[in-house]
Amino acid sequence: MSIAAPPRIAVIGAGPAGLAAAIALTERGHTVRVFEKEATVGGKCHSLHYDGYAYDLGANLTTPRYREVRALARLLDLELQPMHERRVVSINAESIPSLADAGPLARTLIRGMARAYVALRAHTGVDKPGYAEIGPHVRKPFREWLQMHGLARFRDLFANLFIAYGYGVMDALPAAYALKFFDRIHFDAAIDTVLGKDVETTLTFTAGFQALWDAAVAHYGLDVKCEATVHAIVRGEDQVRVTWTDADGDSFEEDFDHLVLACPLQDTPQFLDVSDEEADLFGQIKTYDYYVTAAVLEGVPDASTFVYPYSTRWTPGQPTVFYPPVLGSPNDVFVFYSYGDESTTVDEVRANLRAVVEAPPFSGRVVDILHTQHWRYFPHVDSAAMQAGFFERLEGLQGHNRTVYVGEVLSFPLVELAVQYAQARVAEHL
Ligand SMILES: Cc1cc2nc3c(=O)[nH]c(=O)nc-3n(C[C@H](O)[C@H](O)[C@H](O)COP(=O)(O)OP(=O)(O)OC[C@H]3O[C@@H](n4cnc5c(N)ncnc54)[C@H](O)[C@@H]3O)c2cc1C
Repeated sequence: MSIAAPPRIAVIGAGPAGLAAAIALTERGHTVRVFEKEATVGGKCHSLHYDGYAYDLGANLTTPRYREVRALARLLDLELQPMHERRVVSINAESIPSLADAGPLARTLIRGMARAYVALRAHTGVDKPGYAEIGPHVRKPFREWLQMHGLARFRDLFANLFIAYGYGVMDALPAAYALKFFDRIHFDAAIDTVLGKDVETTLTFTAGFQALWDAAVAHYGLDVKCEATVHAIVRGEDQVRVTWTDADGDSFEEDFDHLVLACPLQDTPQFLDVSDEEADLFGQIKTYDYYVTAAVLEGVPDASTFVYPYSTRWTPGQPTVFYPPVLGSPNDVFVFYSYGDESTTVDEVRANLRAVVEAPPFSGRVVDILHTQHWRYFPHVDSAAMQAGFFERLEGLQGHNRTVYVGEVLSFPLVELAVQYAQARVAEHL
């Protein structure tokens, strides 16, 4: 009796989605090889190490919603810690009044709105992995959805938070994105943040978020080829042929049974034999330019202050939000987020950051800029594309042509949702 060899799967991309898929496949007994173009794993879970401390330049927060991420952290014995003490301060001239100063009536109203919102949200289908099961209303712009449910007066509260988390101006974006993000836990945490309360449920990785994925690769013995350049993927009747070059420039051609795409889908036409349907769908994906800068500051008044921009807009190249030094760190390393556009440069981002730090309420000085990381963030489609069935079409391709598609564009740019989605699709199709 001959025993069939386990299926061989190629995963493209070693971010949270690709690694969650690789772990799930490994647990099912499949043979998996992950191709990663960068020198490190973790994708947008990327940490800078400085003077013995880790500073996250991508994902940093987890909440109790992070069921899978926290379970993996427990398995790998990785410590989570509270963020830091927080206080809400506006750095924006066009600010609305700080909710930290809101009176009891305003606080009651905000809490009441939160309850109404959570009840409405429960019926939208956004808690299922992906978007294929969402109703028609949540494909409309979020502004319209809020109006429809009498929540329009709280628009600025949502809008501010949406901007602060890097998802841009939510008005025209499909409501489904805001609803995916603001689940009960996130929404309560977000409200506590703007009310100036400590959010005890929000935890970060002491060793940085990237450490989770480094440890996962080691624990599961995953076969990850870093600094791999994939030149071509051709999907045939019986196999998927991957042509790639390793870090030394040596070329390889390997056959697999299936393909998991866990890298930005909009980039895949550069190497994948995309069908007309894939090319049309991938061409609809948009992203933001996003810059994350780690800087050593001195002379700022309160190193444990979380500054929050009360603005419903952002200006390219200007910092919108920052995180103060991680808990316990003796260094005044702050991490600033800035949106950009096609003309934004790293020099401009840094010059604006210096100007903000030198002006009140900081009135401090930038001693050193450690790093500026550029991301193409929040892969998404617009409301028209969502209404026209973008996700139904993409989900319709799942499992066909030996291909499974995972990653934040199909789930949402939160590590937990990318992980849960990858697990669900792997279980369904492989
Ligand atoms: C500044 C910032 C802050 C964030 N904060 C949070 C947070 O607090 N909490 C949270 O949950 N989430 C946060 N996120 C979002 C989270 O990091 C992402 O949603 C998550 O990393 C998405 O996982 P992914 O695997 O889909 O994509 P990615 O993390 O982008 O991984 C994709 C991988 O594919 C690789 N790749 C790309 N092209 C190729 C190719 N051609 N060949 C091989 N490999 C390729 C990339 O190098 C990368 O490793 C944040 C993101 C950013 C940028």
